[in-house]
Amino acid sequence: MFEESITRYLQKHGHSNIQLKAVLFDMDGVLFNSMPYHADAWHKVMERHDLHLSREEAYMHEGRTGASTINIVYQRQYGKDATPEMIESIYAEKSKEFNTHPEPERMIGAKEVLEKTKTGGLTPILVTGSGQHSLLDRLIHNFPGMFQRQRMVTAFDVKYGKPHPEPYLMGLEKAGVKANEAMVVENAPIGIQAGVAAGIFTVAVNTGPIDDKVLLDAGADILFPSMQALCDNWEALQTALKQKTVRNAIF
Ligand code: CA
Repeated sequence: MFEESITRYLQKHGHSNIQLKAVLFDMDGVLFNSMPYHADAWHKVMERHDLHLSREEAYMHEGRTGASTINIVYQRQYGKDATPEMIESIYAEKSKEFNTHPEPERMIGAKEVLEKTKTGGLTPILVTGSGQHSLLDRLIHNFPGMFQRQRMVTAFDVKYGKPHPEPYLMGLEKAGVKANEAMVVENAPIGIQAGVAAGIFTVAVNTGPIDDKVLLDAGADILFPSMQALCDNWEALQTALKQKTVRNAIF
């Protein structure tokens, strides 16, 4: 069932097989059902500054660093870069607005996927564009024993951020694995682009309002409608990943 997707990935990237050792997880929209709150906070705070970003468009920027999202919107309206002070103050306001919402729930199926990751002897790594200081506490509270600070890539670690491959390349480095020894789990077009650009087998979970086609066009190797669906298909996917070998390695 997953063989075709895996073969396509192997041929495209010139690997003969995938030997999975680590799973690189995005956070918002993958581990937490936090995107509706983020989209709402972005829209409200931008409006307050006479900047226009609809909730729908916020989903298309999901995964970028806050600074990058603010600058894109500012550039579009004023034709010049936002100042670092402006970026800092708008992002602080957006984080404050986000925190007026209740604490986001765990995404259904996420805990089980992480448990299966660990049980399978795979290393879970967090790769997020988020720069919230409360992040680590929230992860430890919701997913006890799953993540460690040295196994996280956040907005504080990166220069470019998604869609640049940098965060996922850094994730590979933190896991000590190669591109064909990892898998990315992402829900946003920009995050998918980053995973694919890093040369990693990229699984899309469509947990938001975006059309499947947008995620597939971004390059997703495989798509599930939810984290629960990924969880339900976990064993089948692992088996397919282990078994599939192609003779096309490029040296
Ligand atoms: Ca996300």
